Order: sequence, then C-alpha cells, then structure tokens
Amino acid sequence: MAFFDSHSHLQDPRFDEDRAAVLSRAAAAGVHTILVCGEDVESSRAAIALAANAKQPRLLAAAGFHPHEAAHATDAALDEIELLARSGGAAAIGEIGLDFYRDLSPRHVQRQVFDAQLAIAVRLGLPVSVHSRDAEGEVRPHLARFAAESPLARRGRAPGVLHAFGGTLREAQEYAAMGFLVSLTCAAGYPRNEEARAIAAELPLAALLVETDSPALPPQSARGTRNEPANVRVVAELIAEARGITVEAVSAATTANAEALLGRATLVEASA
Ligand SMILES: [Zn+2]
Repeated sequence: MAFFDSHSHLQDPRFDEDRAAVLSRAAAAGVHTILVCGEDVESSRAAIALAANAKQPRLLAAAGFHPHEAAHATDAALDEIELLARSGGAAAIGEIGLDFYRDLSPRHVQRQVFDAQLAIAVRLGLPVSVHSRDAEGEVRPHLARFAAESPLARRGRAPGVLHAFGGTLREAQEYAAMGFLVSLTCAAGYPRNEEARAIAAELPLAALLVETDSPALPPQSARGTRNEPANVRVVAELIAEARGITVEAVSAATTANAEALLGRATLVEASA
C-alpha cells in the first residue's frame, strides 16, 4: 500500500532534531510522497531545499504565503515566491488562502495576497494548496476566477486542493463540482467532527486527498503531540471506515488523485 501525504510542514523547526527518523518512519508506513508547503519566503525556500535533497520518501515542495503571514507579503516577497517556485521546480503554490478565524493579517490584505498568488499559479501553470478557515463563502469566488484562468483547469485537470477542509459536506460538494479536490486530515477522527466524517463517507473518492498537515492535527489517540507523515494512514483508515471499503482502495484512489494533481507531470508551459 502506498500513501501520498498531500500537505505537511516538514521544514518546521520542530522536526530539526529527528527529521531523518521521521522520514524513515514515513517510508516504513508506506508513505512514498509528501508535499512540503511553505508559509512565507523562508519556509518556502526550506521546503524546496528539502525536496531537492530527498530520496525516500519523495518530497515535493510548494511555495507560498499562508494567510496568517499575508501582512508580510510585500511585492518583493511575492516576486521571491514566484522565483523560488519557478527555479526550484515547485509542485504547487501553497499554502495560500483566507483565515477569518484567527484573523492574524487584515482581511483586505489576505484577499490581495491570495489573488496575487493565484495569479502566480496561473502564470506557472501550477495547482494551489488552499487554506480556508471560517472563510469558505469568500474563498469560493476567488477560486472560481482562478479555475477559469488556470491552464490546468482548461485541460480538464484539477486546479487545486482545499487542504485540511473544515467546511460542510455541501461546501465540499460545491468545490468538487468546480473541479477542486478536498483533503482530509486526522481531524476527521476528532469526536465533534461529524461534518468531516460525512465528507469522508459521501464525497466521490475521485475528489478526495489525504494529508497530515504535520506537525499539526495529530490523530485523536495522540492529541497534543507533534504529528508526522506516517500518520497519514490513519486518515485513509477513517475514510475507509466511513465508506465501508478497504484501506487499500482509499490508498490507491487518493494516491492516484494526488499524483494527478501534484506529480511533476502537472508542470506545464505557462504560455501554452
Ligand atoms: Zn498547512
């Protein structure tokens, strides 16, 4: 069985002491690919450096400004993100989006920085990894405009993923209808997360990805500890249980979906 952890922050300093051991546990758990997402220029550069040096499991990088950091995303910093993504062979622009739950950057700045990064993804022909918290209604029109412009969407490919999706089943279905994928985490096993379990049970398997968002969102049995990519299997198990299918079927489908979205084959000529 092979798993694709479609969203992590392995460059986080909390992995500095034992990153090699974390990666070997991931490989032993069947995780063959992990996307490492940026949150600002420095962490995007670190993600690209990690990906360039990785062997097993394969690491892919995403470059971008998290909405929490949007206030620091100057024009020069956004240019740097584009340059890093282009020259470093990023697999995606991310993580980007809107967070109206913590509101760590002013909302009008979050919107501008989100749009600026969606434009980078259009120029580079890359998919996006999107963070949306208490902002699903506002994220949707941004992504609808992006889907209309993305060279990926024009070729019938998914233009991005709603990562660690915390919205309703209905919202997940709307994003899936727009061509986006929806990614679930170990939080689908948290007691009050009925909506994530409904998504796990009802959303077409072709629209689902699995991720850990490491070091955040550990499994219910390990709340309060550092999460790591080996736990992506727990997410697949939760989806399998919700649907009454095998973990193998979830692993095969979500890996194929992630490969189609993020595998290097998605890199297209921006001018095509
Ligand atoms: Zn994240």
